[in-house]
Amino acid sequence: MHSTDTAMGTPELTVLVPVFNEDDNIEALLARLTPVLERVVASHEVLFVDDGSSDATMETLRRVHAQDKRCRAVSFSRNFGKEIAIAAGLDHARGRAVVIIDADLQHPPEVIEQFVAKWREGYKNVYGSRVDRNADSPLRRMLTRRFYAIFEQFGETGLPNGAGDFRLLDRQAVEALKTMGERARFSKGLYAWIGFKSVSVPFEVAERHAGVSKFSYRKLTRFALDGLMSFSTLPLKVWTYVGVFVSMFSLLAAVYYIVQTLRHGIDVPGYASLIVSIMFFAGIQLLTLGIMGEYIGRIFAEVKRRPLYLVAERIEDDGTVVPLDPARPSITARR
Ligand code: UDP
Ligand code: MG
Repeated sequence: MHSTDTAMGTPELTVLVPVFNEDDNIEALLARLTPVLERVVASHEVLFVDDGSSDATMETLRRVHAQDKRCRAVSFSRNFGKEIAIAAGLDHARGRAVVIIDADLQHPPEVIEQFVAKWREGYKNVYGSRVDRNADSPLRRMLTRRFYAIFEQFGETGLPNGAGDFRLLDRQAVEALKTMGERARFSKGLYAWIGFKSVSVPFEVAERHAGVSKFSYRKLTRFALDGLMSFSTLPLKVWTYVGVFVSMFSLLAAVYYIVQTLRHGIDVPGYASLIVSIMFFAGIQLLTLGIMGEYIGRIFAEVKRRPLYLVAERIEDDGTVVPLDPARPSITARR
């Protein structure tokens, strides 16, 4: 018996779908996903994590569940973000492997067949690797490329190029991810950090089936900062070197001014250079403080030890709808 066996049994595969206002995509996704799963694995479940949707997503999930009991759902009390939805999905998944897939059909469900084949060969971390990102705007693609390049240079964990959330994780990798309790979650970094026997499967990103991307540039910037700050301390350390450089430079400047004064006496001009250097160093100090603030803010968020997410409702195999149970917070929240 596997350690995650429950009364309801262990499906071979869990497909984890984070959904945020994806009402128009759920049924289209299932129509393509279910035949693939029935062909490829012995048994499966599709676990939707509703990330606080305000459209009819939950009604659709209830209807879908009534038709197919293999579809389950966990619904958050509000929008917590895709990263946290994935963490909750991993907590609730029962399969011997978990495939994470977007709801909008940008990740072709047919690729799961190749994921499973690799898994059966013994790989525990099978990641889809985007062949191209034509589906996104040129600006977003450019920024994504820059981000990967910066992360490559400064991050403490390498990120395989083009690897995203579309992937298969063996139960062992899932359990490893579940031990990581950080609040500022950057899954792409975590997947790489846990290691395990990994392999990539190339796939082509499709156009979104319906609706628009849930990630604004503001959200993406936040996300990129989270990623860099949780996998690199370089922004903190670099100021030591800048500081050393600046003080050496000011020593040289001091020598220069002493020599100048001895040779020509005190001259009043120099106002411009003074103002410029004051502004320059004030700027550097503010920037440094800001970066400290970013890290301290994250430390603050971590030490508060709030639950990662709150579940408002669950739709289970037997059709029961389980509301938030304050008496058993361990099943609804993760610390
Ligand atoms: N998503 C989510 N919570 C959010 C934003 C997005 O669960 O706060 C889900 C969304 O429903 C979709 C997946 O994450 O299934 C990818 O989102 P989206 O397609 O908007 O992102 P993009 O493809 O533009 O990266
Ligand atoms: Mg998308």
